[in-house]
Amino acid sequence: MNIDGKTKIIGVIGNPIEHTLSPVIHNTLCGLMGINAVYVPIHVESDIDVAVKGLSASGVYGLNVTVPYKQDVMKSLVSVDEEAAEIGAVNTLVRSAGGYKGYNTDMPGLKRAIESRHVKLECKKAIIIGAGGAARAVCLMLIKSGVKAVYILNRSFEKAEDIVAKLGKDYPSVELKALSLSKYKEIPEDKYIMFQCTSIGLKEGDGLLIDDDDFYSMAEYGYDLIYNPAVTPFIAKLNSLGVKNDNGLTMLLYQGIIAFEMWFGVRVTHEMADTVYAELSKKLYGGNIVLVGYMGSGKTSVGNALAKDRNMDFIDLDEYIVEKEGRSINDIFTYESEEYFRNLESKVIADLSNLSNTVISTGGGAVLRKENRDNLGKLGHVVYLKADVDTIVERVKGDDTRPLLQSESEEELRKRVSMMLDSRNPYYELFADQVIYTDRLTPSEIAEIIEF
Ligand code: NAP
Repeated sequence: MNIDGKTKIIGVIGNPIEHTLSPVIHNTLCGLMGINAVYVPIHVESDIDVAVKGLSASGVYGLNVTVPYKQDVMKSLVSVDEEAAEIGAVNTLVRSAGGYKGYNTDMPGLKRAIESRHVKLECKKAIIIGAGGAARAVCLMLIKSGVKAVYILNRSFEKAEDIVAKLGKDYPSVELKALSLSKYKEIPEDKYIMFQCTSIGLKEGDGLLIDDDDFYSMAEYGYDLIYNPAVTPFIAKLNSLGVKNDNGLTMLLYQGIIAFEMWFGVRVTHEMADTVYAELSKKLYGGNIVLVGYMGSGKTSVGNALAKDRNMDFIDLDEYIVEKEGRSINDIFTYESEEYFRNLESKVIADLSNLSNTVISTGGGAVLRKENRDNLGKLGHVVYLKADVDTIVERVKGDDTRPLLQSESEEELRKRVSMMLDSRNPYYELFADQVIYTDRLTPSEIAEIIEF
């Protein structure tokens, strides 16, 4: 970062503020887009009005606002956006003539996070667990996104009822129903987008508020607003039932991205969002390392060495699929098809979205599908372990567990490897954050030079 006389200041005001992750989002975006700005946390002890007016007078270019000032700050602004006024809180201040205008990017952020996972909200039915401030905002976002019905389950029934009464009056065309937690079986059997909006799951030892697989099996997709820990009991349950899900880190990411776009008039691409997500995940959870490369490039041995050196977990995706299917990859290819295996592989990769502090060794063909590259890219730092044809042939000859390499002779094997490597190499190269030539290195030496 090169700070000079033209560097713009952006930041976040709150109290406390020292644990904020927002600088990771915005400073990474400034770097990616070549914007001369710096994002800093600003501790405002108590007088929010003096602070906002002082920051405005000092030319601070844009601000985020966090607890406890999301409501109080509104009286210090020149205007408040209509949606923020409806929510009753602002989290983003944009400079305008005479001061700042207030916006709320939390719910647009959640919506964009969900859409980025190709989940549609329009005409769907939803279940919200919780009836606090977040649940109310989620309910409003769902209504505005065109859902048909929302069921709100809460420990204190009257709070759920209050949301239904207020929003039901303004949006009579959407079916809204309040229920106490124990009445969850009154929700009709159907498919729902499910939101976990309580604080249960934040503390170690927290359990599920509703402990019934039949209930969670109704989820087509689930979202837990909590992002720390990465895997709450809600997320763990959805994982165990094979339900696609995300935690609140993507909401944090996209509320920041939308604020950044408003300040600088830019559009953040999916690729940039993935890079920022990887940085956030690394900072918060310790991040992941994804090893890609051709068969025999040493992904498993390097993965084991890396995980041991850095005290990380290790997953070999091929072994994981074999374990899950209860049969070898050869058998899957023989009795099903390569397409069947690739579909399994894509599903397993998509299910890894909540992984942290893990080294992931991928199958040689995993990078061929765009959806896999997108999902693996989000997981963390991608390293291509590059090996030349001779090294690979030496490593894989005589190995009969690799269906795509079965050959009559070493010469035929060399031809196959060479052809496949030529077609796959551009994918590996373009996709990776780091390329390592492995031919003359041991697994431990490779593990040492991985920049993460
Ligand atoms: P809130 O207004 O305090 O509401 C808390 C909710 O949790 C209420 O529904 C409350 O039920 C329920 N709850 C608390 N303890 C419970 C217990 N022991 N048993 C059953 N229910 C319990 O909080 P909020 O602002 O809505 O936030 C809710 C969660 O969303 C928080 O964990 C927060 O971290 C998360 N969040 C994440 C983001 C993000 O960027 N990802 C943004 C905002 C919030 P009662 O009504 O019965 O008390």
